[in-house]
Amino acid sequence: MMTAIVVEELRKSYDGFEAVKGVSFTVREGSFTAFLGPNGAGKSTTISIICSLLQQDSGRVSVFGNDASSLESRRAIGVVFQDPLLDGMLTVRENLEVRGAMYGLSKDELRHSVEKALEVTDSMEFAGQRYRTLSGGQRRRADIARALVHGPRLLILDEPTSGLDPRTRRTIWDTISRLNREQGLTVLLTTHYMEEATDADDVIIIAKGEIVARGTPAQLRDEYCTDSMTLVPANLQAVERILEGMGVAYDTDKGVVRIGLSRTADAVPIISALQGMVESLEVRSGTLDEAFLEITGEGSE
Ligand code: ADP
Ligand code: MG
Repeated sequence: MMTAIVVEELRKSYDGFEAVKGVSFTVREGSFTAFLGPNGAGKSTTISIICSLLQQDSGRVSVFGNDASSLESRRAIGVVFQDPLLDGMLTVRENLEVRGAMYGLSKDELRHSVEKALEVTDSMEFAGQRYRTLSGGQRRRADIARALVHGPRLLILDEPTSGLDPRTRRTIWDTISRLNREQGLTVLLTTHYMEEATDADDVIIIAKGEIVARGTPAQLRDEYCTDSMTLVPANLQAVERILEGMGVAYDTDKGVVRIGLSRTADAVPIISALQGMVESLEVRSGTLDEAFLEITGEGSE
């Protein structure tokens, strides 16, 4: 399988402030890849360079084997940025027709590709409405439809769900996911919601201009989630003696004992050894949300 995007040692500064500091990653063809990071991490800067809307200071970007600045690369990409590019006074369909005409499609091709873009984004229902009269979720669908009119192989979206209510976020996410699975589009999107990244095939995490982690959601969970057990001992000294005897690392805080676990099942032998010595206990699986905060350095200490 071909690689859709290759980014190598990418750097970009704004007036001496280095926003992207030597970033490298690849996006697999056909994948749904989430580019995850807190605000200001460098996500928009990176994808603007991939789309050739911004010039890097150094480093290389190729899209399906072509340099990002080439015509081939630009034609391969459909992009949805946060600021809408549609004309509020035109209907959604008219907006798409104007867009398609820019690519020199014949009349038949144009009609066909506009209808297809409307259909795959579930925009048919409001295709005849002026863009400015649409709801937030409908606008986002229309924005995606616009990005698809010229038949790109790669869809890039910058925080497509931000600013939408949770239910609408979900439906937009499902539409994008369907475009990936059913239309075979490679999707790269940015998000600052960890929960969205867990639905992607691949996750690339960026913080302060640097890639800090990458992998499938399962790999990230394995690598970064920490499970733990906390317990309130009936007799602290007795519990400490047992834990030390078992070679279990722990710390105590205000009479509560905390034990880090590599997996929750490791709690079982410890609990049996402490039979009758514990007033209460809790075993918890670490969440990817906690791991994300830890990885990006946003966690509270
Ligand atoms: P993200 O999309 O992850 O929120 P950005 O790529 O937009 O991050 O921004 C990365 C950093 O670069 C931020 O600190 C931001 O303030 C800064 N930045 C972005 N665009 C500009 C610009 N045009 N001029 C100056 N600084 C910028
Ligand atoms: Mg951004």
